[in-house]
Amino acid sequence: MPVVAVHQASRSYPGGVHALREVSLSIADGEMLAIVGPSGSGKSTLLQLMGTLDRPTGGRIELRGHDVAKLSDRALSALRSRWIGFVFQQFYLDAGVSAAGNVETGLLYAGVPRRRRRTLAFAALERVGLGHRAGHLPGELSGGERQRVAIARAVVNRPSILLADEPTGNLDTENGASVLGLLGELSADGTTVVIITHDRDIAASAPRRIEMLDGRLRQDTGVAA
Ligand code: ADP
Repeated sequence: MPVVAVHQASRSYPGGVHALREVSLSIADGEMLAIVGPSGSGKSTLLQLMGTLDRPTGGRIELRGHDVAKLSDRALSALRSRWIGFVFQQFYLDAGVSAAGNVETGLLYAGVPRRRRRTLAFAALERVGLGHRAGHLPGELSGGERQRVAIARAVVNRPSILLADEPTGNLDTENGASVLGLLGELSADGTTVVIITHDRDIAASAPRRIEMLDGRLRQDTGVAA
């Protein structure tokens, strides 16, 4: 069963804006795919629908066979916090809290006791190669390290799916490459990784590429199940 299945999903806004038009795709466990396309083509909308942060106005989104439209808000946020991790271009770290403290916030809604949260946060920082920076504030870290902290926060709960919206957009080439390498490792470990990117090299290196144009899926290099 696919981890994410998008069936003829559309998202329109009042006033006749069609952000997404009847997009279908299916993603298997452990896949790594890049979503590319010009600005305004519907990439973020698609990512938000797959992450259950938004609901389609037509069609259907299924996570491991669960039609998300049939879940209550409460069930949906429980599923989201258990299964899905998000990474954004702007990191969104709390500047007044250590790297470990930031990672711990990824567990706040999972009902994990405090001491266990700390242990898991350290383990996640080790996983992204930042165990030695756990006590540092974001301001004491490089951009690449900050994005690694954000990734640790996204994966601390061991989600099935990691959704990343331009994760290397604020990084130089070297830091971008190392963050990408990390996402590749997570995918090799079995996490499904979806990356929106404008970077041609990243897009070219992803095993599967989805091209969006005017809210439509223009090309999918993967074998859709
Ligand atoms: P991309 O991520 O490829 O830049 P988006 O998914 O953000 O594209 O946007 C797709 C289209 O939907 C754009 O034309 C955008 O202006 C429109 N759109 C996105 N969000 C909204 C919104 N909240 N209200 C109205 N239009 C929106």
